[in-house]
Amino acid sequence: VVLGGIRGRVCGIARLGKYLLIDFSTGRVLLAHLGMSGRIVIVPRSTAREPHTHAVLRLDSGDDLRYVDPRRFGALAVYPRGAVRASDELRALGPDPLGGGFTPAYLAGALAATRGVAVKSFLLDQRRIAGLGNIYASEVLWVARIAPRRRANQVRGDEVARLHRAVVDVLSAAVARRGTTLRDYVDAGGEGGENQEFLAVYDRAGEPCGECGARVRRIVQGARSTFYCPRCQRR
Ligand SMILES: [Zn+2]
Repeated sequence: VVLGGIRGRVCGIARLGKYLLIDFSTGRVLLAHLGMSGRIVIVPRSTAREPHTHAVLRLDSGDDLRYVDPRRFGALAVYPRGAVRASDELRALGPDPLGGGFTPAYLAGALAATRGVAVKSFLLDQRRIAGLGNIYASEVLWVARIAPRRRANQVRGDEVARLHRAVVDVLSAAVARRGTTLRDYVDAGGEGGENQEFLAVYDRAGEPCGECGARVRRIVQGARSTFYCPRCQRR
C-alpha cells in the first residue's frame, strides 16, 4: 500500500464510528478501518514483519506503526484534513453514540423512519448509528430488554429511552475496557481488551442469563448471529 503524502507529526487521534482517524501536522488524515481481523500495532523497527502487514509508517522514535489484516476486510485511506468528513467512507455515517448528535430524539426519528427492519439489523446499520458491531448490538438489546426480532419502527416511548441509554452505556463500557477480544483484536501495544469478560449474552448460547437464569438463545439474522434471553427480552 502506498500512503502518499503521509509525513509530519501526529497531532491528533480520534475515532468516528468504526474508523480511526490519525491527524498529521502536514494537513493529511490517515483513515483506518480494522474490518474483521485487522490491527494496528506499534513495534520496534527490528521486529520481524508478520504476514499480511499491508502498510508501515516509520516513526521517529525508531518504532514502526504497522497495519496487519489477514482477512482484508479493513481499509486504509489518506485525505486532506478538509476533505475527510466528506469522504466516501465517512459521509454516509450516522452519529457516533459517544459524540454529538446521538440523542433520544434522533434515535426515535431514525427508528420510526424504518420499514420492515428488525431492531437488531437497525443497530448494525452504520448509516443510522456509527460504531455498533455485532457483539455490541446483542448486548445493547439485552440491556434494553428488547427482543432482537422486534420491528425497529415499533420500538417506542420508554423503550426508545432505554435503547438510547443502553447504546451509550454498552459502548462507553467497552471503550473503557479497551475493547472486546474474542479472537484477533489487540490494541496498539499488542494487548487484548477486557470487555469479553463482561458480555451478558454474546457467544453464550445455552448458558443461564445473569438476570433471570433462562438459557441464552442464538438465532441468525441477516447472516449474523444474535444472542438474547427469551425471558428478559420477550418483546
Ligand atoms: Zn434473562
